[in-house]
Parts: sequence; structure tokens; C-alpha cells
Amino acid sequence: MNQRLQAPLSQLHESDAFARRHIGPSTPDEAHMLRAMGLASRQALIEAVVPGNIVRQTPMDLPPAATEQDALQELKTIASRNRVFKSFIGQGYYGTHTPGVIQRNILENPAWYTAYTPYQAEISQGRLEALLNFQTLVCDLTAMPVANASMLDEATAAAEAMALARRSAGARSDVFVVHPDVHPQTLEVLRTRAEPMGWCVATPSDHATFLTALAQPHFGALVQYPSSTGAIYDWREAAAQSHAHQALLIAATDLLALTLLPPPGEWGADIVVGNSQRLGMPMGAGGPHAAFMACQDSLKRSLPGRLVGVSIDAQGAPALRLALQTREQHIRREKATSNICTAQVLPAVMASMYAVYHGPNGLRDIAQRIAQLTAALAQGLENLGFALRHSTAFDTVTVHAPDSALNIATRALLAGVNLRKVSESELGISLDETSTTADVALLLRLFGAEQPPVIDAATPPRIPAGLQRRSHFLTHPVFHSHHSETAMLRYIRSLSDKDLALDRCMIPLGSCTMKLNATSEMIPITWPEFAHIHPFAPADQQQGYAQLDQQLRDWLCTITGYADVSLQPNAGSQGEYAGLLAIRAWHASRGQAQRTICLIPSSAHGTNPASAQMCGMQVVVVACDAQGNIDMADLQAKCKAHSDKLACIMITYPSTHGVFEDAVRPLCELVHQHGGRVYVDGANMNALVGLAAPGAFGGDVSHLNLHKTFCIPHGGGGPGVGPVCVAQDLVPFLPGHAAAGKPAVVGAVSAAPYGNAAVLPISWMYIRMMGASGLRHATETAILNANYIRVRLQDAYPTLYAGPGGFVAHECILDLRPLKESSGITAEDVAKRLIDYGFHAPTLSFPVPGTLMVEPTESEPLEELDRFIDAMLAIRTEIQRIQDGDWPREDNPLKNAPHTAAQLLQDAWSHPYSRTEAAGHKQLAAKYWPPVARIDNVHGDRNLVCTCPPIEAYLS
Ligand SMILES: *Cc1c(COP(=O)(O)O)cnc(C)c1O
Repeated sequence: MNQRLQAPLSQLHESDAFARRHIGPSTPDEAHMLRAMGLASRQALIEAVVPGNIVRQTPMDLPPAATEQDALQELKTIASRNRVFKSFIGQGYYGTHTPGVIQRNILENPAWYTAYTPYQAEISQGRLEALLNFQTLVCDLTAMPVANASMLDEATAAAEAMALARRSAGARSDVFVVHPDVHPQTLEVLRTRAEPMGWCVATPSDHATFLTALAQPHFGALVQYPSSTGAIYDWREAAAQSHAHQALLIAATDLLALTLLPPPGEWGADIVVGNSQRLGMPMGAGGPHAAFMACQDSLKRSLPGRLVGVSIDAQGAPALRLALQTREQHIRREKATSNICTAQVLPAVMASMYAVYHGPNGLRDIAQRIAQLTAALAQGLENLGFALRHSTAFDTVTVHAPDSALNIATRALLAGVNLRKVSESELGISLDETSTTADVALLLRLFGAEQPPVIDAATPPRIPAGLQRRSHFLTHPVFHSHHSETAMLRYIRSLSDKDLALDRCMIPLGSCTMKLNATSEMIPITWPEFAHIHPFAPADQQQGYAQLDQQLRDWLCTITGYADVSLQPNAGSQGEYAGLLAIRAWHASRGQAQRTICLIPSSAHGTNPASAQMCGMQVVVVACDAQGNIDMADLQAKCKAHSDKLACIMITYPSTHGVFEDAVRPLCELVHQHGGRVYVDGANMNALVGLAAPGAFGGDVSHLNLHKTFCIPHGGGGPGVGPVCVAQDLVPFLPGHAAAGKPAVVGAVSAAPYGNAAVLPISWMYIRMMGASGLRHATETAILNANYIRVRLQDAYPTLYAGPGGFVAHECILDLRPLKESSGITAEDVAKRLIDYGFHAPTLSFPVPGTLMVEPTESEPLEELDRFIDAMLAIRTEIQRIQDGDWPREDNPLKNAPHTAAQLLQDAWSHPYSRTEAAGHKQLAAKYWPPVARIDNVHGDRNLVCTCPPIEAYLS
């Protein structure tokens, strides 16, 4: 029996009760692993791995670890300080009913939320199908030919669309014209993004001047459809004007409204963006939600984000995978046009399922009901003598109340109702799926109706006669086949059964930190006090979020050694961007705006150069030496050469090579001497927490990835949170948020002031339950697990880079390039063969082509590490048989991996290895069977299909 099980209960400290669940190996397991590497203690390992000159001298000042129950109770108290009002604010965020079958079986289901980004397509067919449904939903409703698989939020989607227009439009202008009635947060993010690129955001003061502005040179224009305050304009003329100037017209739109209105693709829009939040995703104080982007066919090869496409597998069967620019930042680096890496997959899956559940008629009915109630509200307000700003409406009315706006808004608050304060004299009201006739009656009473008003729910919508949708949408059978809950439940289950997520096996992806996402961390995210808050609700209703934000920021400061943190960025890439903006603004504030050179080592993650490019910086690459460390001589030369213009260096620590570089302190000092700042990419923070703090060893700015180190699940490729952390003198340059009443030198980088607020409770719970010593223990175990794998695999697969003593940090790069020469087997073949053994592959060919980067994390127990090691060793034996000439180079279990059950059940079997050998995994009853064989990427890119194909494709 395992010794841990025999320990008397009294020996178990309550304070580390959760840490013992989060950390995989037990104390005896740890002793066994240390013996395997010839070490006496964990302490000895850490001393051998972490350079002495950066080690933390004092423990982190965090509250003592709480049990799962106590932490939940404490968080409940914080949550209860949020007050859930009925919000009629609109402005891009609406009440919605999340179907229970979707909430329970997707949002709360680890088979969905613990999955990774679908780079390994063969084990991701379920989520890829859901994303293809999402793309089909967006394409159908917008009437555009191509849509991507999600964007971070509507405002950043609009900014990405502006950038897409700038590089694709024929016009030579730097002017981007924005209609005055777009969502204010969108305008703010556009301004933040345009400024470093030198683009001019023109904001005409009213509708008429906007149309005149389109007669001047511009490269793009943005309109909101319906407009932020509720008007439904016919934009055909605007599109024609933009096209006459070889500019692109971008429409920000609302998918629900498009069930009733002519879609932008039918009136000339070139790019369409928006947010799918109201399709079943709670407001959550601003996120996470899946935004989207669709474009005309001619733009598809420059579309940012990820695109799911249909291809075929080795057996000729249809199979899905990420198409085209899948890892654009990695391939194009500083020439990349967008830095989006983690996006919003889980919310996109939910929105797609909402459409599958309701179907086209259901969606239209919901929209129709909202439009009728809105018309009834508008009628009632006019009957009371109020003038409305617009005669048209879908779900929003803007009311002139010159004498009474303040009084009405105050009365509304007393009744538990939030209205939008559009101006001193105007109030906005937006209805949604959750609105009822009783709500309309209440609203009318707030505006002075004395009698209980009679609401005619069949009032004709105020949609102009010429602006009615005639075209069909969602005609694919998937949107017609799962309308009973039984069918829906089984559809969701059938998709998740196709995928490998953390609920089945270890996902040892280097640089991605796929650790436990504990259930107690997940529970609070659907509490109504967190879920049903509008991001622009008054601050006194968001006290709970304010406290959560403050505590989490304090703790992250303690952990990183920085002075302040902003949680606004929606992913690591956005944190990078915000951090570089801070550095840029700091230089400018000192009259040093010419400092625009950003040094980046050749081993960096592709988002680093892409973010620098988006800040208008010039990337200069610094070489790495033979040990994979930054070449200090080259760095010195580049600092000297660019001394007057040096803005910063971006390093990753420990490096993307999985090594603690000894010279990090002198490196930081060198850059500082030349007037530059040091950006430390915090993606590898899981190797540092509790041991060393970037803010203390020379870093000036870092981003963290809460979806890596701090337990927010990857959700199949998002949501994420990418806090940006800065040193004291950079604090004034953290992103502000004017739309939320917090203007700053640097404007908003996300639509919502707290970014993806609704998932912050996950990281709060993690830190609260681990405490300082639990967190440090986790870091040490992450390093232990990585070194155990390295030692056990070193004879079969040498580790490419190591520090002094041969130790690695929290991940190790296995070098498969020599095997390729002797056997023809590539790292990709091994990655695919691991699927047969029931594993998700490690990171493939990053940062070094032809290698696998393994990061086990602290959460994997010894049994799972050994199972992975055994699979890797078995695969090495198979490679040996190829090297020995037993199996041909082109027909062996690796080249043909992964094997489907269908292949092994065929009567004919012509391979030189047996079916049993093909299966890999020895316990067939427990084996994961991939639904498709190896996928042909090239075929899919040549014949690009990015919406649900005609059903015959599946039947053939
Ligand atoms: C994951 C990662 C990023 C990007 O973070 P996202 O959250 O995916 O945007 C940046 N740098 C490194 C080293 C990473 O591993």
C-alpha cells in the first residue's frame, strides 16, 4: 500500500490539504524520483537548478493556505458584495439564458474545459467540429464567405479588422473613419491600437458628417449595425463610398439582430466583427466571450486568429484541422500581422451549441420577441410624451429626458434596474432574451406611467420595411437535428468523446503548463453574483469584483516582485502588448520617443516579435549560443549599436529552452545601462513562483498567463487572462479604461475594464488554497517532474539543452533530429504515435524544429509520468526496429500513426507489423481510439472549406 495512505490523519496538516491534492507525487514518490537522479532531497535539486543569485530570500507574503471549503466560503463573501441588478445597459452586453444542457455539459465539463488548442487535430475532432459550427454560424448570419474560430472581444476584433483593412486596402491613406455611434469601448481600443502605428482615427460628430468624411481619402471605416444607441441604418451608400476610395468597410454587428436584418455580406461590408456573448454566455462583468471576425474571400489569407478547415485523413475520410495561418506568429514572427495565440474557444463552442440547440427558427423567435417588446417599450415611452433619438430599433431605444434623466436613472437604481446614461439628457434601454412584459411595464413606470401599462407583446418591430432579412441561414442539418435535450446531450457527449483532454491523460505541452484545473477552483465561475454582472454596471454593484481584482493583483505583485498589475489583457499576447505600450509611453514621457528598438532572442515565442511590431517597434534579433543561452557578446554588440534607440529587450525566463540562464542579472544590467527596459515573458512562471521573482532580479515588466501557471483551464484554446505586471516607475502607464471611468495615459487594451473577469475566481481560489508554501512546493515539484522525465529518457532521447549539472527547469526538449537521419522518423511521427499509446503529444518543433518539448507540471502523479516514459521508451524500441531494417522506413507503426479502430478491424491487413503492435496501448479496454487517421494538411489548404460541408461529404 502507498505509504501516504497509511499516514495517520493527525499527521496531515490541514493547511496543505489542497496542495496535497493539487501536487501529483506523494512524499515516497518524490524520494523515489530523487533517487533516480542521484539526489538526496528536493532542496538539493532546487539548489542545483536555480541560480543562487536570483533565489528569493524571504517567503512570499500571502495569506496561509485555506481548505477548499474555507476558500469557497471566503470567496462567497466577496461575491456577495456584487449586487445583481437587471441591466438594460446594452452597449454590447446582454442578459441571456444559458441552456442548462450547455452549462452543465460544456462550461462545467472538464472534457471540454481542460482541452488544449487543437494543434494535434487527430485528438481534437470534437472541438474542431464545434468550432466549424461556430464559423458556419457566423458566416451564415453575416452572409460572409469566411469566419475565424473566435477573437478575444469585440473591441480588439474591430482593432484587428482596422489593421487588416490597412494592409489590404488599395487606398494609400492613414485615415480610419469611425461612425460616432459605435460602442465607446470599441472606439477607445481602436485609438490605443492606432496610435503607435501612426494611423489617424477620425470620429465625425454625427451621422451626416460621417457620410461626408467617407468622401475623403481613408483606408477603412467602421460602422455599428444596429448602432450603439439603437438605430438601424442602411449602410449600402457608406459601403459604396468607401469602395470608391479603395477603402474597406467594417461592420460591427450583433448576431441575434442579423436573424431579422439584412446581413452585412448582402450590403457591401468587407469585414464583419462582433461578440457572440448573447448566444448563451453570461455577461460575467465583461468576459470571457467569443468575439468573431468574418471577411470577404479575397482577405482570407490575411485573416487574424485561427481558422478551422475541412481536409481528409490518410484513409481519405473527411477530417478537420486548423487551416492556413494556424501559427502565424510562429512562422512569420516580426512580420506577423497579429499576435493572437490563446483566443476564446470555450465560449465559441458554447455559442455554437446555443445555435445548434435553438436552430434558425428558435434564434429568429428570440430576436422577434425582443424586437416586439422593444417596439412596445418605444410606443409606451412615446405615449408618455418622451422623444426617442431614433425612429428605428431592434432591441435598444435612446430616450430624450432633458429634465428628468438623472431622476429616472436614480429611481431605476432604487428599483434594482440599470439604464445606460448616454448623455446628460439621454437614457438608453436595451432589452434581451431574458426581458419580459413585466420588465417593460416596470421600465414604463420608472418613466412616469401611473397606470400599470398594458403591453402588447405583438407590437410590430421598428425595423424599416426595406431592412428585413430575406435570406436563409443555418440550413446545415446540424442546426436542425439536436433540438430535444436528449439529442443535444448526446451530440455534446459524442463530440467530447472524440477528444483527449486532461480528464483522460497528461498533456505534457512545453510552454503551455497544462496543470490541474481543480473543481473547487471552477465552481465559483457560475455563481450568479459573478456571472450576471454587466461590465458597465455602476461601481457600487461591482464591489465584489473590485475586491477580487485588488486581492489578486496584490498577490501577483508579491509573487512576481512587481509594483502593480493590470488584469485587463485577455491573453498573454495582450499582456505583452500592454507591457510594451507601457515601456513605449514611459520613454515618450521622458522625451525619448526615438527609443523604438526591441531586442528579442532567436529562441523567443512568436507572439513577442508580433507584439513589438504592433507597438511600432523594430525587432532586432539576438543570437543564442551553442548551449541555447542568449549570446552575451552578441547582446553587448547590439546594445552598443542601438544604444540611443534601445527601447527594451524581451526575454523569457527560464528560457523557452527550459533552462535557468545564469547570466540573467548581468543581462538586465547591461540593457539598463543602455537606457532600455527589460520585459520578462512570464509564460514560464510555473518554474519561478516561490523561488524567484522577475521584478526582483532585473525585470521591469512581465505578463503572466493565468491560464498556464494559475490554473485557468485552456478551454481548448481560451479563454485566458494575461495580467501585465510593472515596476514602480511604469505604474502610471498601465492601461486605463475611460469607458469605465478610469482614463489613463495608455488607453484600454480590452473591451471590458477587468478583461475576462468571470474566470478570475479560478486563480484566486488556487492561490488562496495553496498559500506561499504550497505554491513553492508546486514549483519545486514541477522542476522535479521534468528532471525525472529527462533522466529516465536520456538514453533513448537526449535532452537538447540543460543547465550546469545537466539539469533542466520545468520542461525539457527531447532532440529527435539524430533519429530522423538514421530512421526517417520525425518528431511529428512520434507525436502521432503517442496518440496510439493514449497521450497528447508534447509541444512539437517549438522552439527548436525537429524536437519535442515536454512539460509535465507538478500535478501529474508518478504513475502517469511512468506511463508516459514507458510509452516513449516503447516508441524508441519501435524506432530501433526501423533502424535495424525490421520494418521499412515508409511502412511502420510510426509513419502510419495514429491508427483508428476501423483500420484495425478491417479484414485485410497488409502492413509488416501486427494489429496488436499497431494498437500501441496494451490495455485495449482502456484505450483511446482516435476517430481519424493522420490528417493531410496540404490537401485542406489547397481546397479551403471553412464552414460545415454539405452532409454528403460525411456520408461518402
Ligand atoms: C503561451 C505563450 C505566450 C502567449 O500567450 P497567450 O496567452 O497564448 O497569448 C507567449 N510567450 C510564451 C513563451 C508562451 O509560452
